[in-house]
Amino acid sequence: MAVQAPGRWDAALIGAGLSSLSLAWRLAEDPGTSILLIDGRRGDEDRTFAWWSRTAGPFDALAWRTWETLDVRVGGADIPLALGSWRYRALRARDLRRVVLARLAQRPNARVLRGRAEAVEDGPDGVTVVVDGQAHRARFAFDSRFDLGTPPPTPGRVSLVQSFQGWWVEADDPAFDPARATLMDFDVPQGQGVGFTYLLPETPTRALAMAVRMGPDVDPPPLAPWLDARVGPGRWRVTATEGGATPMTDAPFRRRLCDHVLSIGITGGRLRASTGYAFGRIQRDSDRIADSLARRGHPFDLPADPWRVRMADAVFLRLLADQPQRMGPVFARLFTEVPTDVVLRFLDEGGGWMDLLRVMWAVPNRPFLAAAARVVRARLLSR
Ligand SMILES: Cc1cc2nc3c(=O)[nH]c(=O)nc-3n(C[C@H](O)[C@H](O)[C@H](O)COP(=O)(O)OP(=O)(O)OC[C@H]3O[C@@H](n4cnc5c(N)ncnc54)[C@H](O)[C@@H]3O)c2cc1C
Repeated sequence: MAVQAPGRWDAALIGAGLSSLSLAWRLAEDPGTSILLIDGRRGDEDRTFAWWSRTAGPFDALAWRTWETLDVRVGGADIPLALGSWRYRALRARDLRRVVLARLAQRPNARVLRGRAEAVEDGPDGVTVVVDGQAHRARFAFDSRFDLGTPPPTPGRVSLVQSFQGWWVEADDPAFDPARATLMDFDVPQGQGVGFTYLLPETPTRALAMAVRMGPDVDPPPLAPWLDARVGPGRWRVTATEGGATPMTDAPFRRRLCDHVLSIGITGGRLRASTGYAFGRIQRDSDRIADSLARRGHPFDLPADPWRVRMADAVFLRLLADQPQRMGPVFARLFTEVPTDVVLRFLDEGGGWMDLLRVMWAVPNRPFLAAAARVVRARLLSR
């Protein structure tokens, strides 16, 4: 793709979070593509992204640890998951940002602009993004701005929130096994929605502990008692924190926001609605956007999520909204009854029909069938 008019960027990326940085990296592979990255971050908050994959990815080398074994804890029992050919990795957002910005800095036709996008105005042959009162023209804009109301609540659809509270902890004595990460531990106070913790150990004495709740917009479960039980009362201290919240909804996301603007990341529906994982989906989406630009001259030739995946998300969210107390047993069955390979494909992109059938066969059927019936009824009534 070549610059088409003086003073006009090929791609304006709004935001400098996971999706914009991933897409910037991918677009920068074509030296002819001019890139404006609009970095509207407030403060320097860091974040850790964990993901699983079986093939090499562009950011594998940034991982501060790679695991071959994970644990899931449900009902007082540890379920070890041997990942086979998969690997689970974690990186820090600040490392991702550092390498992407360094790559852009080497390019004469790329610029990182600190500021907030205030307006995005579509035009006949491109788009104008206004940042702090200054207009920047681009052939296409990629918008990653979102809030917890993205997309707006839709009749017949579920709108929940996934909230995170993470603590980096230093333990006084070796308390963690760096060879094993905990993917989900459901042995936490449940309250509203579904709560769990995960643990990403960096060394025997240093780890990221994250409390998560899926449900109405409420706080994650408390981390201190969980750490006391795991490490020992008073035997650990918090050295840094991270957190945030993301929408969980089966409401439809719009990708083509107008003629020259594509939504990316969470606002582009790349967060798996039922699980909250986005890293792998965002990498694949970035590849597809770059391919569409190269083949079609525009970024909009992207596959829709398969119907079975959208339906599985909708049923899962309906069950989560209506009967959150059932979710612990559902996850327990998922991890004990279904091969890890299938579970990982299912949690990430949804897997194929066979994966879906194996999951549906393994989890408690009656609540799922009842939730499926409620999804279908709600959609028919909201037409
Ligand atoms: C605490 C936490 C942990 C997570 N961990 C994982 C994980 O381990 N694995 C996983 O797969 N997913 C994880 N997720 C989910 C998801 O991957 C992340 O939320 C991810 O950051 C989504 O990427 P994004 O680009 O859509 O949004 P963001 O990364 O939030 O990027 C959006 C960017 O837009 C910027 N912005 C907003 N308004 C403007 C404006 N007007 N102008 C310019 N910029 C603006 C924001 O400052 C932000 O930097 C996590 C989410 C949270 C909250």
